[in-house]
Amino acid sequence: EAMRMVEFRMMQYDNEQILLMVRDVTQWNRMEQMRRDFIANVSHELRTPLTVVQGYIEMLEDPQALPPEMWQKAHGMMLEQTRRMDSLVSQLITLSRIEAAERSDLDHEIDVPSLLNIISEEAKALGAEKAMQITLEVESGLNIKGDLMEMRSAFSNLIFNAVHYTQPEGEIDIRWYSQNGNACFLVSDNGDGIGAEHIQRLTERFYRVDRARSRKTGGSGLGLAIVKHALSHHSSKLKIQSSLTVGSTFSFVIPAELVVKK
Ligand code: ADP
Repeated sequence: EAMRMVEFRMMQYDNEQILLMVRDVTQWNRMEQMRRDFIANVSHELRTPLTVVQGYIEMLEDPQALPPEMWQKAHGMMLEQTRRMDSLVSQLITLSRIEAAERSDLDHEIDVPSLLNIISEEAKALGAEKAMQITLEVESGLNIKGDLMEMRSAFSNLIFNAVHYTQPEGEIDIRWYSQNGNACFLVSDNGDGIGAEHIQRLTERFYRVDRARSRKTGGSGLGLAIVKHALSHHSSKLKIQSSLTVGSTFSFVIPAELVVKK
């Protein structure tokens, strides 16, 4: 914060007067840098899977020269890489939609218990081959007013992350309960955990603790940025508690004014 950037402009106004313009461009420069970084990141993220697909297409130019088991491999890899691009593009669309909205339309009642039931079923399917144990505890009738698309993204990004970053046979706890009139959500896992030095930066776009690992799980690095924006539209903030090898807890509180009284 100490360094500020200033732009000077000097103009001859008429024969006697000179106009000196001084403009503080610190904020503008910072935004411009962020915009450039963002475009560089997006390009890189899309180019990596694209290069893999291109490689296989070139290899298939002369199919006769390839043993049939290579076709299968090529097919599998191309499918995986195109899915990755597809998921990155949908996350980008979600993020830009959420960022563009100044405030969300909070008039809709969201049946959070049902929503969490659906998402945890999806998470179970996702975690099936890892034999995850997923427990869901929800207070029935605890609904909120909010934006369904945004809240669905928030819940599912946090829950799917717990599945992605937890080792096989791990345990995941999902809870939705009221406290002092507010509605509280938490998802905890006994997974990889996150080093303290990373926690502050996790909600930045494209920030990942371990790039290679996140890619392998299909991660775009945009999930928590989406969660942060969605929550801020609902007057809420993401809280992250984590320790390496022990696990992580992601939680937030929806304030009482958005809780639907039954
Ligand atoms: P990604 O698409 O890479 O999962 P996110 O923005 O959702 O991106 O998460 C950012 C990073 O935070 C992840 O790459 C991962 O390193 C870390 N992370 C998120 N959730 C968890 C979790 N439950 N346990 C451990 N690490 C996590």
